[in-house]
Amino acid sequence: MPIYKAPQRDMHFVLHELLDVESTFKTLPKHAEIDRDTLNAVLEEGAKFCEDIIFPLNKSGDEEGCHHDKTTFAVTTPKGYKEAYAKFVEGGWPALGCEPEFGGQGLPQVANTAFYEMGNSANQAWLMYPGLTHGAYECLLAHGSDALKQTYLPKLTSGEWTGTMCLTEPHCGTDLGLLRSKAEPQADGSYKLSGQKIFISAGEHDMVENIVHLVLARLPDAPAGTKGISLFVVPKFLVNADGTLGARNGINCNGIEHKMGIHSNATCQMYLEGATGWMIGEPNKGLNAMFVMMNAARLGVGVQSLGLTEVAYQNAVAYAKDRIQMRSLSGPKAPDKPADPIIVHPDVRKMLLTARAYAEGGRALAYWIALQIDIELNHPDADARKEAGDMVALMTPIVKAFLTDNGWTATSACMQVYGGHGYIAEWGMEQYVRDARINMIYEGTNTIQSLDLLGRKVLMDNGAKLKKFGKLVATFIEDEGVVEAMQEFVNPLADLGDKVQKLTMEIGMKAMGNPDEVGAAAVDYLRVVGHLVFAYFFARMAKIALAKQDSGDPFYTAKLATARFYFAKLLPETASLIRSARAGVKPLLDMSEDLF
Ligand SMILES: Cc1cc2nc3c(=O)[nH]c(=O)nc-3n(C[C@H](O)[C@H](O)[C@H](O)COP(=O)(O)OP(=O)(O)OC[C@H]3O[C@@H](n4cnc5c(N)ncnc54)[C@H](O)[C@@H]3O)c2cc1C
Repeated sequence: MPIYKAPQRDMHFVLHELLDVESTFKTLPKHAEIDRDTLNAVLEEGAKFCEDIIFPLNKSGDEEGCHHDKTTFAVTTPKGYKEAYAKFVEGGWPALGCEPEFGGQGLPQVANTAFYEMGNSANQAWLMYPGLTHGAYECLLAHGSDALKQTYLPKLTSGEWTGTMCLTEPHCGTDLGLLRSKAEPQADGSYKLSGQKIFISAGEHDMVENIVHLVLARLPDAPAGTKGISLFVVPKFLVNADGTLGARNGINCNGIEHKMGIHSNATCQMYLEGATGWMIGEPNKGLNAMFVMMNAARLGVGVQSLGLTEVAYQNAVAYAKDRIQMRSLSGPKAPDKPADPIIVHPDVRKMLLTARAYAEGGRALAYWIALQIDIELNHPDADARKEAGDMVALMTPIVKAFLTDNGWTATSACMQVYGGHGYIAEWGMEQYVRDARINMIYEGTNTIQSLDLLGRKVLMDNGAKLKKFGKLVATFIEDEGVVEAMQEFVNPLADLGDKVQKLTMEIGMKAMGNPDEVGAAAVDYLRVVGHLVFAYFFARMAKIALAKQDSGDPFYTAKLATARFYFAKLLPETASLIRSARAGVKPLLDMSEDLF
């Protein structure tokens, strides 16, 4: 059976030694009282919930899956899921990052992100039921009317109701401008919605009494394309004026998908037949409002893969220490045994260290971005909020795509560590690979993330946000470039920084002649920038580890070794990525379509 222990030591390292979140909290009036001990205590309790309550359900939930009743449209989640959700609510976990005004605990995003990392390691599919709720909460908080907020936010905060996001339709996923669902205005200010949505995560289930769907649809006179999309809140049960539940609304789950992974999360086909809804925000500006939820979800998906990377790593290490096969090429390392444990073999080490480095780099980036969100939302100074907001915007596609691509590589490498046993369901490793794959697809495929980064966030912005990040890197290089022991980290970081600048200019110039050049380079480009970000954080982590390596705490020795592995074995991937990005569009579009 798989194992999982929340990596609290490394989480503390990132929060307190790398990011020093407590100092930042002191600059944010809302979080000024939150200290290291409070945060650690929350994480310790969170770790218990994840390890003891939802982790034991991960494998059984995957095996059982969800059940759909065609006559009642009801969805039943696997055994134990509903009870685990009740404990989640009882523990106050849904309220962690929500506003006290609506019953929330008002803790920083950083706390929520760290909790979600552990939850995703423990059981990604289970966590998606409450996970989407938080995005719905944020969208309503940012764009809902006071009446909508009062009706829905307390129940989403307490976890009594969950939320969904209903964007995708059979004929449109990436291109939401094509969507057809309709919303007819009613005399009482509500709307009647009709249409079909597919692939709706947690669209129907048995854990809560009401489900709050956020639905994109078109008004009768809406312009074509993305400029004609509005956003509506459509509850499963209508809510009476006194807050009690009323009639069943016309939104039903007509089927659930059979899919590669996350079996225990119901992926629903939803039919809206005259369902009553209320508009969120302004007419035809629904996509803008929905972006609040989509951005939160994109970061959340990156954290899903961070969680899977960590749990796959932990299991692969345990297996590699236990499994004996062949002797080390340099002579027996366990002469008392008939063979050496496979962890002695260099390539097994490479697979383990790849997962470890991707987990540690991903944790540093994800928690840093969560802290930037806390600054963006709460800093008293408008400039500080803007700076942080720019970093969040720039990094969102990187967190989503780089962490999920890495998660796929890492879980696959960890499965490989098990040899044939990794492919067998009993060990649980193949589930992590299957679960990790969807993260590269939903919430905008990783290709779409890369277009967002290169097209919108970098080129359309004349590189302003990227330059801001470049400034952080340049300052670090300037400060540490003179330190002998830091050369091995600072030099490759500086070199990659220069190359990213040149590559960005080159693609920008080419794109002026042919916009397809952006599409041809974007995926490689995002990986190169992702590595720049990881190199920056690994260099910063190495600096701390170097200073403390004589402390006698093996944690710092391991951190340094992981940073060295990252720079020596993973960062060099950027050379081939840059070459591929520079090769441009010609090799891709030269062949005419009919030759395919
Ligand atoms: C398990 C699961 C859960 C999901 N949960 C939800 C949910 O809760 N709510 C919801 O609304 N949706 C959900 N989705 C839908 C998901 O977000 C979409 O599947 C995804 O956005 C891709 O859309 P599509 O499947 O229609 O693919 P398409 O849009 O048809 O894309 C097909 C391929 O073309 C590529 N492509 C498209 N346009 C471009 C372009 N301009 N340049 C380059 N390449 C391009 C894509 O990257 C992709 O590789 C879920 C999907 C799954 C499988």
